[in-house]
Amino acid sequence: MKKELPLIAFAAIISIWGLLAYNIPFFQFVMSHNDAGLWPKILLVGGLGIVMAALNFWVCYLLVFLFRYVGRILVAAAQVCNAAGVYFVVIYRTILDGTMMENFYNTRWSEASSFFTPMMLLWLIIGGMLPACWILMQKVNYGTWKRFGIVSGVAIGISLLFAGANFNQFLWFGKHDTELGGMLMPWSYVVNSGRIYAQHRAANAKEEPLPDATLRPLEQPTAVVLVIGESGRRANFQLYGYPRPTNPLLSQRTDIHAIPANACATYTTAAVRAMMQPAPSRTLVEALPNYLFRHGVDVVWRTNNWGEPPVHIDEYVTLKELKKQYPEADDGHEGSLFAGIKKRIESSAAERILIILHTNTSHGAQYSAQYPERFEVFTPVAHNVEDGVKNIHGLTNAYDNTIVYTDYLLNNLIDSLAAIPDHRTAMIYMSDHGESLGENGLFMHGVPMATAPKEQYEVPLIVWLNGNWREVRDLTEPANSFAIYHSVLDLLGIDSPIYEQQKDIFIYD
Ligand SMILES: [Zn+2]
Repeated sequence: MKKELPLIAFAAIISIWGLLAYNIPFFQFVMSHNDAGLWPKILLVGGLGIVMAALNFWVCYLLVFLFRYVGRILVAAAQVCNAAGVYFVVIYRTILDGTMMENFYNTRWSEASSFFTPMMLLWLIIGGMLPACWILMQKVNYGTWKRFGIVSGVAIGISLLFAGANFNQFLWFGKHDTELGGMLMPWSYVVNSGRIYAQHRAANAKEEPLPDATLRPLEQPTAVVLVIGESGRRANFQLYGYPRPTNPLLSQRTDIHAIPANACATYTTAAVRAMMQPAPSRTLVEALPNYLFRHGVDVVWRTNNWGEPPVHIDEYVTLKELKKQYPEADDGHEGSLFAGIKKRIESSAAERILIILHTNTSHGAQYSAQYPERFEVFTPVAHNVEDGVKNIHGLTNAYDNTIVYTDYLLNNLIDSLAAIPDHRTAMIYMSDHGESLGENGLFMHGVPMATAPKEQYEVPLIVWLNGNWREVRDLTEPANSFAIYHSVLDLLGIDSPIYEQQKDIFIYD
């Protein structure tokens, strides 16, 4: 203890200790779940070990160099948390993903104390507190700013080099990101705690209220059902000219409008947010359901998805709850999300009703797991994107089956809305964003808009009205995500200072 250690050696010891003591389950997972050959796997594990060691070394070096003793307290505390984390991973076969951390923060002490077995305490002392004591007591020579710069550069360079060398495995990492991320100490609980904090903040975020609206008298009570699609790309809808029969039911109808549209973003959170606000905005403005609810509209939000702006209404229901409510409609997928809509509209006392269904129908990577078996009309299917990379045809088959299922769900919904005699009804379907199926070597979605390929933002916008009580405009260019807000305001007869006629897909009445 008396001898001073240079900070490089100090951080290196902590980093290597962290790798060996807390991250063995992570490497075991990689060894047992990656199906590359033995040698490529050893290279992968070795490469990952170097990346992790270099990054952990650098973070430790950074904290201690910049914050001195406070940094050491943080690093020491991390040892105890790491020890507890890896204990749960090994003994309870759990992973420290978002759900687990959410549970952790919501657990009362009385429940938690049952986890503290003598064996766990012993491990916490040996695996966590002893190293923590050493970190706090060891004399350290912090070195100069110049050395700090050099060491940082080298550590980051090594991480990037070895991360780049394993870049070909990125689809495999993407497939297992939850498990891998949930076992990596200390990043599992640090990152997931941060995400939970961000989610709570977002859910409680103050929205900027929009100016008040006035309600026009309506000839008849009016109900709009807005279906938000997931990863539905326009090119694979028969309604838009796709040569395969992916819309066997909707293509038979003469009463629907298939409008070309472009999403404003290529990932769910931003794309859904754009559909729920009237114009681009840096701040969080009053989302469509909240705005309408405040004006007395009967608003329902049913979801089998996530990444939604904060929804402040009385009836926000998840698919899980709907499965219980409509067990007869549960097809193991999204059947219950669409169940009982006719009854819900007919039993409403309100003059204006908006029902939003946030679906998940074409979400990857396992397209073939997204629909009931009878919708597997295109075969054979690749069972996930990883297999699909070598088998684009199978991947496309699986994806196209999700569109066939979408076609069925929408067509059923339209039939049930058409059977409501006393209301004017409308159905609007728009996908949040598109999807890549191997074009330019890209899969899934999420490429930033500036460079996104058209497959990721060209989406379908399908509209149906009972009795054509409102006409669709002839659009000179594709509609975009913001069209939803203005079109719904128009259909429900809501006059608002924020309404913009040129964004409305209907002829304003
Ligand atoms: Zn999405």
